[in-house]
Amino acid sequence: MYRMQQQQIRLTDSYGRVARDLRVSVTDRCNLRCTYCMPEEGMQWIADSRILTLSELERLVRIGVEKLGIRSVRFTGGEPLLRPGLADLIGQTAKMTCDNGEHPDIALTTNGLGLEKHIGKLRDAGLKRINISVDSLDPERFAKLTRRDRLADVLKGIEAAKAAGLRPIKINTVVMPNTNEADILPLLDFCLNQGFQLRFIEEMPLGPPQVWNRDIMVKAEDIKATIEEKYQLSLATGQRASSPAKVWDVVQDGAIIGQVGIIASVTKPFCGDCDRTRLTADGQIRNCLFARREFNLRDLMRGGASDEELALAWAGEMGRKLPGHGIDSPSFLQPQRGMSAIGG
Ligand code: SAM
Ligand code: SF4
Repeated sequence: MYRMQQQQIRLTDSYGRVARDLRVSVTDRCNLRCTYCMPEEGMQWIADSRILTLSELERLVRIGVEKLGIRSVRFTGGEPLLRPGLADLIGQTAKMTCDNGEHPDIALTTNGLGLEKHIGKLRDAGLKRINISVDSLDPERFAKLTRRDRLADVLKGIEAAKAAGLRPIKINTVVMPNTNEADILPLLDFCLNQGFQLRFIEEMPLGPPQVWNRDIMVKAEDIKATIEEKYQLSLATGQRASSPAKVWDVVQDGAIIGQVGIIASVTKPFCGDCDRTRLTADGQIRNCLFARREFNLRDLMRGGASDEELALAWAGEMGRKLPGHGIDSPSFLQPQRGMSAIGG
């Protein structure tokens, strides 16, 4: 019997990259004001009417997973724990089936505030992996960087994630010039002791204009050199090509005692291996963190488009992905949206 094979749409761009990893921002709101991400005051929040409802979010994630080949979904923000219904959304996502027959790999990036209240429900809903952002273990420096005196609460959240059994727990740290360079080694020691995987991230030009300065930014090579004041680093084996972090084994007295990742988004871009697509809280598809254009899937959906039409529009936007973010180009322009409204 002849059976028409269902055509599979894939998120392929004209350079042959295939997006399999979806970043979903569930809100642009946040309870911190990290200097590299937001201004101290005057943030223009997205109007509630433009924010996707939970069922709209679920529908678009389902289209990504079940029609477009997405295999991993990371929920982020703004601060995703501020979005009511996050656990339900994770629960629905965990039941979806990818094109390899498996359920999607679900992760969360959070600043950890209030995590102890939510972690049980999130884990039970299907959350497997978590990244928690901490830029300093010194309360004063933490408060200077985030403009809120909340380090103790973040540490409580990390402890709760560990107690809930989430593995791996990754810690994200942005290193800022003349601010938290002194935290590089204490944070690494803390993570090595606790069994967490630390990821240092180069600051990207995605915060308030004028904050990022290429001439003084802390580069991956500076971070590596600081770590090497105490430990030897040797390149870890078995790294995923699409992983943005270069992962190093941390060696002390000839023995590997853990690993550390360094994400050189600016000085060593990994655009050629990028496998990401992004959905903002207000339903815009972005084919790159630094894209200057986006596609308004929300209005297409609210106008009555079918799942097929939404999938084709999403694939079309990914087809327009540029070869690289172009930070080094003299014509580089920062995207209109900041990191918190895109979803990091
Ligand atoms: N609020 C959550 C958090 O902070 O983890 C999730 C959203 S936040 C935008 C996601 C990640 O982006 C965090 O690890 C944060 O440190 C990072 N980030 C924000 N602005 C950045 C910038 N300008 N350069 C590099 N990383 C940045
Ligand atoms: Fe909020 Fe995360 Fe941005 Fe910090 S990095 S202001 S915690 S969204």
